[in-house]
Amino acid sequence: MTEPDLNAQRIAAANFYETHYTGSDPIFLEPGVKLILGSAGSPRHCRFCGKNEPEVTFKDEAHALPAAFGNTGLFSNYECDACNHLFGEGIENHLGNWSKPIRTLSRIKGRNGVPTIKKPGRDKGWRIEYADAGFQLTEYEEEPFFEIDEQAKKLRFDLHRDTYVPVAVLKGLVKIGLTLIPEDETPHFRETYEWICDTDHSRDFVANFPVLRTFIPGPMRNDLIVLMVMRRRAEIDTVPYAFFTFAYGNEVLQVFLPSPSQDRCINGKLFRLPPFPIPGFSDQDKYGHPKVKVENLTNRQPVKNEKVTVVFKFDAAAH
Ligand SMILES: [Zn+2]
Repeated sequence: MTEPDLNAQRIAAANFYETHYTGSDPIFLEPGVKLILGSAGSPRHCRFCGKNEPEVTFKDEAHALPAAFGNTGLFSNYECDACNHLFGEGIENHLGNWSKPIRTLSRIKGRNGVPTIKKPGRDKGWRIEYADAGFQLTEYEEEPFFEIDEQAKKLRFDLHRDTYVPVAVLKGLVKIGLTLIPEDETPHFRETYEWICDTDHSRDFVANFPVLRTFIPGPMRNDLIVLMVMRRRAEIDTVPYAFFTFAYGNEVLQVFLPSPSQDRCINGKLFRLPPFPIPGFSDQDKYGHPKVKVENLTNRQPVKNEKVTVVFKFDAAAH
C-alpha cells in the first residue's frame, strides 16, 4: 500500500468521524498532570453501583485508568471503595494479563516498573524485561522466543500471555470509558454499569462489539496517555452511540461503549467503521505503517497459553 492511499484513508476516516460523532476535548496524561474527575462534594455518589455515602465509602484513590498503564495522575471521585476493589481484583487483572505483552514492549511503567514477561511455570526458560539501559532479552537454547532478521532489520517476538477471559477484558476496557463519560450520559448506560459490575462473566450482554487496535511501530513515548470520548451526533442513527479511544505507547485502542437504549436503532444492521484516525506518529518509512486489527473480546471461556507475535524494525543490531 502506498503512502497517498494511507493519507486518503486517514482523511476519509477523519471526515466520517467528524460527520457522525462529536467529542469532548482529549485528556493528555503525562508526568506532572493530576486530574480528578467529578465533584468531591458530599454526599458522594458511585456511578458504578449507584450507591451513595454513607452506604458506601470513598476513602481510596480510584484510578480512572489502571496504574498498570502508567496512570499516576487521573482519578475519579465517583467510584466507591467496594467497586474499586471489585474491579481491581477482577476485570482489571484480566485486562492486565491481556495487555501485558504490549505494555512490556511499549516500556509502560506500572506500579512495579515495566512488566517482565516470563515463560510460565518454574522451569528455567525465557524472560524479557526492561532495565534502564534498554530491553534485556534472556534466551535459553531449548526455547527460542525471538528471531532477528538482520537483513530486513526485523526483530520478531513470540510472547506468552497469562490466562484471561476475553469478555472480562472487554468489561475492563468498557469500565475505563464509563469512567470518562460525562455524568449526564450515565443514564444511557445503566445496564452497562450493571454488566461490568457483574462478576459472572457468562452473562449474555454484548454480541458484537469489536475493539479496534492500532499498533504503531517505532519508538513512541512511554509516558504519554491520550484519552478521548466520542458520542454520536443527535441527528445520526446509523452508527454505535459512543466509543472512546485510548492511546499509550505503541498502541491505540478504540472501544465502543454499548448502550442498549441508544444502540437499539442499529440492532441487526451491518456496518463498517473505519478506525479512528491517529494523529502524528513515528517515521513510517523507517519503522513501517500502523497496523489495525479488530479484536473480538466477547468470548467467555478462559484463554490459556496464548502466543502474541510482535515484529519490530530496528536500525542496527548490537553485537
Ligand atoms: Zn460503587
